[in-house]
Amino acid sequence: MTGSAQTPVAHDDADFEDVYIRLQADLLVIGDSIMTDRHHASNGNYEDDDPQNQIGGIIPAFPLSGWLRHGMEAVVQDHGGTACHPGEVNANFMKDGVYTRDLDAGYHEKGTCTDDPKEDDGCVIFDLFGGFGGVPGKVMRRPVKFNPVRSSVDYTRGQAEGHYRRLNRNVVSRNRGDSREPLRNAELDAVANLDGAWHLSFRESKPEFVGLLVEAIRYLDDHRTDFMHQLGGARNFGAGIVDCELINPLYDEHELKRVFDRGRGSTNAMDEKDDQWTEKYRPVFVDALEERTSEGP
Ligand SMILES: [Zn+2]
Repeated sequence: MTGSAQTPVAHDDADFEDVYIRLQADLLVIGDSIMTDRHHASNGNYEDDDPQNQIGGIIPAFPLSGWLRHGMEAVVQDHGGTACHPGEVNANFMKDGVYTRDLDAGYHEKGTCTDDPKEDDGCVIFDLFGGFGGVPGKVMRRPVKFNPVRSSVDYTRGQAEGHYRRLNRNVVSRNRGDSREPLRNAELDAVANLDGAWHLSFRESKPEFVGLLVEAIRYLDDHRTDFMHQLGGARNFGAGIVDCELINPLYDEHELKRVFDRGRGSTNAMDEKDDQWTEKYRPVFVDALEERTSEGP
């Protein structure tokens, strides 16, 4: 292990291999890539403006992963490090100058941080996200399954309450004589009032991974209204602003569920675990991240 610090206290749950991020968003527009169970749920009678619709679906991991990665890159750069550029070195970038500027602004060419990706972990971003030389990366990002019926949402399986909506937009003529005649109709798949848990698993656990996750989630929450750190499309229209927080990894399953139970507060045991996390665990993980980034590249 590179640059690992000791975990402060023995912890039974396999060294934080599974973690959950709470995501809350009023509106998410993930292009056309939200998959729904519309056919199954509506029995052929789907009306997209029916508030009673029971349609659930899946938010794919791709946009979530990109959003998280961007936050993690920013944290690495804040610590004075550089991050693997997400684009292949030999890709035909449409804008060569922009790629070069990226490299000047805290990135290195993807994979140049490791001579042999099978042997050598590279930078912490490469270590987590891989994507070079057949290396998958050590954080597994799952899709988020959403459902409008809260009682059927299993937060411990990385699910969310969310309401599928189809938004219709008319692009209208600008000529006065046309009286706003529609020129084009655009449909957008969206999820409204999302609240749930995104499940991430580390294939291998290292304290700096947890440290980077902790810092990145805080960074993303602090920058949630920045255009760069919103999630999905339609950002100009208020979509993609995500409140996020790491759910205390010390919580057991019941406590994790309780986070989403609006009728009940946290227990004394949960408060105690929050103090433990803040005072004992978190600083050690963040120190491990600092140690790793100070080693370069
Ligand atoms: Zn790298």
